[in-house]
Amino acid sequence: MTTLVLAPYCKNQSIEPVSKLINAALKLGDDVHVLTIGAADQSLAQATSKLAGVAQVHILAAPPSDVLEFDDIACALRPLMGEYQALIAANTGAGKHITLLLAAQLSIAPLTGISAIFDRQTFERPIYAGSLFEQISSQDDKLIATIRTANFKPVGDQAACPVSELPLPPSNRQVEILEHIETNEERPDLSQATIVIAGGRGVGSKEGFRKLEGFADQLGAALGASRIAVDMGWAPHHLQVGQTGVQIAPDLYIALGISGAVQHIAGIKDAGKIIAINKDVEAPIFKVADYGIIGDLHTLLPQLQKALADEQS
Ligand SMILES: Cc1cc2nc3c(=O)[nH]c(=O)nc-3n(C[C@H](O)[C@H](O)[C@H](O)COP(=O)(O)OP(=O)(O)OC[C@H]3O[C@@H](n4cnc5c(N)ncnc54)[C@H](O)[C@@H]3O)c2cc1C
Repeated sequence: MTTLVLAPYCKNQSIEPVSKLINAALKLGDDVHVLTIGAADQSLAQATSKLAGVAQVHILAAPPSDVLEFDDIACALRPLMGEYQALIAANTGAGKHITLLLAAQLSIAPLTGISAIFDRQTFERPIYAGSLFEQISSQDDKLIATIRTANFKPVGDQAACPVSELPLPPSNRQVEILEHIETNEERPDLSQATIVIAGGRGVGSKEGFRKLEGFADQLGAALGASRIAVDMGWAPHHLQVGQTGVQIAPDLYIALGISGAVQHIAGIKDAGKIIAINKDVEAPIFKVADYGIIGDLHTLLPQLQKALADEQS
């Protein structure tokens, strides 16, 4: 029996998320193959072939000009699932979207947000914004699951295993893409960043949120946002941190003008150190913060940036 790991993909993808997914997949006790997306840049596939426990890497070949949509990838995975006992993907927006499409096509109940794997049938995941953990068992013949990569360690190295290209089958796209909007490629990916700077309602406006960018760039950090900042249109949805956003695991998380609602905290449970800047001493974020600064962020942020610039010069 063999498990297929769907490698997370985005521009400038690091090897760490797929390495952690492989570790999770190995806990099922079967051989592990990995599918990477896009033949144009094969560096991820080549690096993946040298991760311990991987027996085969497939590259889903797509023309360099073509942007693969979730429908295309689910469509390509469907015939492959005849050969595989399980599909493991990251619990990201893309991972959840693709696995849910595939699970619906195969009439399998997908397991999302898995944080621990005990054996082939038994899994654990947080529920109610992380207040409880539940153990679940899959009754399906095949497993389709998304994994919280922050809960698994990367695997070690091995001699490279075979890498082969798979042709892209014809798509049955159900959506028409009207526009692709490029995001800032220079900043680290939120789900993998070691430092995250996030803004909430307290930043006050879109312009206020943009002021965080300079601070993030000074620290080489990713930007994040609370749901309110997203709902207000100050930040794009893919930056939302929390229960219904991205679950992050940076070494350092700096929250500016974020109250610390339970749904937000659900996304930062795996953060190392947390620094909160808030003018309300009673803000719940201070209960989880390692360091708290009480004050107006509009005054404190320029001071912090200046101190950092002085330190760096
Ligand atoms: C089903 C569900 C899912 C949800 N999922 C998410 C999620 O994934 N992520 C998420 O973030 N939220 C989520 N929410 C929303 C969540 O409940 C909160 O409403 C939200 O997190 C609050 O955002 P905030 O902290 O930016 O705003 P607020 O709660 O309004 O807090 C703003 C904070 O800024 C401080 N402040 C104001 N001005 C300043 C200033 N000048 N200087 C310093 N501090 C200042 C205030 O004291 C306050 O503490 C969800 C809610 C539900 C019901």
